[in-house]
Amino acid sequence: MSPIPNHLPTPELQALDAAHHIHPFTDAAALAARGARVIVRGEGVWLTDSEGRRILDGMAGLWCVNLGYGNERLVEAAARQMRELAFYNTFFQTTHPPAVALAAKLAEVAPAGLSHVFFANSGSEANDTNIRLVRHFWAAQGKPEKHVLIARKNAYHGSTMGGASLGGMAPMHAQGGLPIPGIHHIGQPHWYSEGGEMTPEEFGRMRARELEQAIGEIGADRVAAFIAEPVQGAGGVIIPPESYWPEVQAICDAHDILLIADEVVTGFGRTGEWWGSQRFGIRPDIVTTAKGLSSGYLPIGASLIAPHVAGVIAAAGEFNHGYTYSGHPVAAAVALETLAILEEERIVERVRAVTAPYLAQVWGRLADHPLVGAAETCGLMGVIALTPDKARRAAFAAEEGTVGLRCREQSFANDLVMRHVGDRMIIAPPLVIAEAEIDELAARARTTLDQVLDGLTRDGLMVAKG
Ligand SMILES: *Cc1c(COP(=O)(O)O)cnc(C)c1O
Repeated sequence: MSPIPNHLPTPELQALDAAHHIHPFTDAAALAARGARVIVRGEGVWLTDSEGRRILDGMAGLWCVNLGYGNERLVEAAARQMRELAFYNTFFQTTHPPAVALAAKLAEVAPAGLSHVFFANSGSEANDTNIRLVRHFWAAQGKPEKHVLIARKNAYHGSTMGGASLGGMAPMHAQGGLPIPGIHHIGQPHWYSEGGEMTPEEFGRMRARELEQAIGEIGADRVAAFIAEPVQGAGGVIIPPESYWPEVQAICDAHDILLIADEVVTGFGRTGEWWGSQRFGIRPDIVTTAKGLSSGYLPIGASLIAPHVAGVIAAAGEFNHGYTYSGHPVAAAVALETLAILEEERIVERVRAVTAPYLAQVWGRLADHPLVGAAETCGLMGVIALTPDKARRAAFAAEEGTVGLRCREQSFANDLVMRHVGDRMIIAPPLVIAEAEIDELAARARTTLDQVLDGLTRDGLMVAKG
C-alpha cells in the first residue's frame, strides 16, 4: 500500500499538515484557521484537489511546469535513469552520462555562446554559485576587491542567504540578518507604479542609468557583476520598457562588469523566445536557470557560463564549491527529456507564433474592466494591475495587497490559480496551454474581477490612496 495518505479525508490531511508542516511563504495562523488546499493530481494545465474539484493552473505550479502535468515521457525518463544509475556524484573527477549529455545540450541551446555549465538543485543555489563564481573570477585575476554585486529592489533571486540577499524583497531582508555584505540594490524599471509623468522609454533609460550612478559611487574596480531578471517574475511580472536593457548592457560593457541574467522564469520559452536574453537583446556572461529546465518534475538548476569566465575559473585551480546533487543523474535525465520535447514538439515556436499572441489579445481585453489599470503580457506571462482609478494608475487607500489577496481568494473559489503580488494579479500558465484553455482562463479571470469589484464597492474600498 502507498505510504502517501491519499485516502485520508481532507480535514484530517489539513489537521496533520497544520500540526507538523511549516510552509514556505505562508502565514501559519491563517493556514491553521482555514486549512491548506490539498492538491492530489495534475493533468495538462489542470489540477485536481482532494475534494475532486478541477482547477485551471494559471501559474504552472510556481512558473515551472512548462510541459504541463502528467507527461509520460518525463515519467519514463526518470524511471529509466533510476533503474540504470539512481545516483552518483560529479565531485573529485567523476561524471556520468546524464550530466555530460545535459551540459553539452545546454551549451548548444544557451544564449550568447555560453558554453559551460555548473549544476545546482534550484534557482537559489545556482545564484549562490554565481556569487561565489564571480567573486572568485575577479580574485583569480588579482582583483579580490572587485566583489560587489549590484541587484535591484523588488527582484527575486531565491530564498537562500545568497539568493535572498541578491533579491530586493524588503520582507525577506527583514528576517535573518540579510542582505549579506557586498550586495547593492538599485531601482527597478517598474513604469506603471513608479514612472509618474515620464514616458515608459524615458523612465526605462533613467532606471538603467541608476546602474551607472551606482558603479560610479562604488567604483568600477569594486563591482563584480550586475544581476537581473529579464522580466521580473515574483516581483509582479514587471515587463521593462524597451529602452532599459540596451542601456544596461552598454553600461556593463563600458565598465567591465559581468552581467548575470537570472532566467529561472524567463528561460526555456516563457517569453516566446528560448531565452529572455534573446527577447530583450541581452548578452549575459552568466545565465541562471532552474524551474522550466526540468518542467518542475525534479529539482535542478544550473549556471550557464561564458567561455571567458569558465576559462579563468579553470585556470585558477580547484573551485572549492559543489552540491552533493550537482548534476543529479535522474534530474539531469528529466531535464534532457524536457529539452528534447521542447525541440521535437516545437513548443517555443508555437508559443511565439500562436499562444503568446493569442494570450496578448485575450488578456489585453481585460484592460476594459473598471478594476484594471493595465493588462499586459510578455510571452506566456501576464499581469493585471488592479486600481480604483484607471486614469491615474492609482493605488488603493487600503493597505497594499488587501485587494490583491481578495482577488486571489476569489480566483481560487472560481477554480483558477492566479497569484497576487501586492495588488497585481499574475499568471504564467504551462507553455502547452491550448487556445480554448486560454479563453477559459480569461473568462474565469473576468468573472473574478466582477465579483471582486462588487465586494469592494459594497465594502467602500474602491477608494484611491492620497
Ligand atoms: C524561483 C526563482 C528563483 C529561485 O529558484 P528556487 O528553485 O525556488 O530556488 C531564482 N530566480 C528567479 C527569477 C526565480 O523566479
